[in-house]
This record gives sequence, C-alpha cells and structure tokens, in this order.
Amino acid sequence: MKKIFFTPGPSQLYPTVPAHIRNALNVSVMSISHRSDSFHKIFEDAKNELRKLLDIPSAHHIFFLSSATEAMERIIENTVRKKSFHFVNGSFSSLFARVAKELGKEPQIYAAEYGEGFEIDSVKIPKDTELICITHNETSTGVMLPVKEIEALKTKYPHILIALDIVSSVPFPKINFHKIDCVFFSVQKGFGLPSGLGVLIVNPRVLIKSRSLLARKYSIGSFHNFPGLLKYSEKSETPETPNVLGIYLLGKVAGDLNRRGIHAVRENWLKKAEMLYSLSKENTKFTPFVKNHKFRSPTVIVLEVEGGSVDLLMNLRKKGVYIGNGYKDFAGKHIRIANFPAISIRDISKLVMTLHLL
Ligand SMILES: *Cc1c(COP(=O)(O)O)cnc(C)c1O
Repeated sequence: MKKIFFTPGPSQLYPTVPAHIRNALNVSVMSISHRSDSFHKIFEDAKNELRKLLDIPSAHHIFFLSSATEAMERIIENTVRKKSFHFVNGSFSSLFARVAKELGKEPQIYAAEYGEGFEIDSVKIPKDTELICITHNETSTGVMLPVKEIEALKTKYPHILIALDIVSSVPFPKINFHKIDCVFFSVQKGFGLPSGLGVLIVNPRVLIKSRSLLARKYSIGSFHNFPGLLKYSEKSETPETPNVLGIYLLGKVAGDLNRRGIHAVRENWLKKAEMLYSLSKENTKFTPFVKNHKFRSPTVIVLEVEGGSVDLLMNLRKKGVYIGNGYKDFAGKHIRIANFPAISIRDISKLVMTLHLL
C-alpha cells in the first residue's frame, strides 16, 4: 500500500525526490570529495536556486547546518552576549528560549497561550535586547504570525537583531531580508526532503556582531561559528564534511519549485488551505484550534476533533494515510495536517473526503 504523509515533519517527500536520488547515485554525489569542484558546483547550485526562490539579496550569506535546532544554538552563540527576547506561543518558540538559557544567556520571554498569536506592534521590547526571536509558524499549534508585522519591528528597533524560524512555513512567506537578520529552516518540512540539513540566511550585520563578540573573548562556538562558516562558504565549502546529498537534493527541489514559479506555488498553497479549513465549516466534528482568523496557518492546519483524535488517526493509518497527532498535551485531542508543496490539490481533496466519512 502506498503511504501518504500529511505529517508536519518529517513530511511527504516532494514528488521529484526519488528521481533526484537515483541521479545522485548515478553521478556519485555521496562519494565525491567535499573539497572538489564537483561539490563546489552542488553547493553553488543550491545557493543560487534558494536565492532565486526566496529572493535572498546577494550580500546575504547562506550557511548549511545540520538542523533548525542547530541554527537556534548557532544564532544565540553568535549574536547574544546576554539578552535575547522571545515571542513564545508553542513548543518550538519555547525551544528557542530554552537553547538561550542553556547557553547561559538571559532570555526574556513574552508568552501567549497555545493557539494564540501576538499583536506584535504593541509589545514593548527592552532597549538592551540584542536579539528578538520569533517563530513564524508554530508547528505545535497552527499559529502563523503576519510577516509584515515582524518586519515592522526593524523600523521600531533598528539596532536590535531579529531571528525568524520559518521551518514549517518555508517557502510560503515572502520575506524582506533587509528587515530580518537571521532566517532559518530545516528541509524535511516545506521542501519535502530527507531530514538532516538546516539552512541559515544571515545579513552582514550579523557577522559584525559575531566578530565583535569574538574580539571581546566571548565564545561563539567552534567549527560552526559564523566567521568560520563564512570563510568556507566563500570557497563554496563547509568547515566539516556536510550532508552532501541533502545539499544536492535541496538545489534540485528548489529548482523544481522555481520552474513551477513561487507565485503559482503560493496560490496553490492557499487553495489547499481553504479546502482544509472548509472541512470544519461543513462538519461540526472538526473545529480550528486557532480561533483568530488572522493567525490561522495555511501551512499547518490544527483541528480539534470532537470525541478525540485517537480512533481517527488509527483508521487513517490503516488506509496508509498519516496525519499529525496533537502536539504534547494536545495528543489524542487534535489533528495537525501539513499542507506543504509536496501535497497536491488532489491529495487534499481525497483527505477531506476521507475525513468526512470517518
Ligand atoms: C520542526 C521544527 C523545528 C526543529 O527542526 P529540526 O530540523 O528538527 O531541528 C524548529 N522550529 C519549528 C517551527 C519546527 O516546526
């Protein structure tokens, strides 16, 4: 039985991935040296396709890490001497703050209930904050924050760096990289790729901060500190032996999405989200967990299920259909449906029909 995954990470593979893996085997991607010209080309290809897809300015640096969790740790190490400020409304935003705490910093937390967002422009951020950390799309609750409101923080606090987690929304949001200093994601969600690769996009201002911390003898980490990542990336390399296959596949799938056109990808995305939310209009068994329409995520749809979600998840699994369970305390109560580009309108339409019948 062919399985299909509407799970928010790891997720359904993008349909072209198997063919790209076969081709990678044919051209020995997994055996070539990571200091060779063949690798340099793979590295450049991935960066170029990403720049085009996400509209990343040429002065911004793109670094390859092992995961989004690693990106959180590297960002804190390289930009914060003491004070970070965290918008926390779910498990992943909470993780970012925990990373800062465990690195010995003083994270300040601005919290909202799970399922809620923030009126970002009304939040007062202390002047001595060095970094503002925001999770664009809380995968645990299905809350997406408006990018424009996040970008407006830069106008209000031009001297504070901003880090944005776009793990479960990439490549949906259109981001102005001049307004957000560090943007990061891993590839096993929105890109529909095998896990084990993180991508971090930073602007030159971030490198200045990192170098100044180093000059003042603060630890900015070792092999993956930003000046080191930059030194190697200027040679189209990474400090360590990286996930070469992951970088290769990212370049290929970003290229496929570029050929579809990001505009078309986004339109398709919204259409599928509409179909999923309309499920709750037609069937009272399902209620969107996020009450405020403004914050309802089009990329991870979280629904409360009348009578609980345990039987429903099991019955779907028997049909080879995997959707996300509720996160932590909401396990057995919610379902979470990942709506990423790997999923077609036809897949969503079949899922909606199945959910109606269960
Ligand atoms: C999954 C997820 C992460 C963690 O990603 P890893 O690749 O497992 O490190 C971080 N933030 C968000 C919003 C996520 O959904």
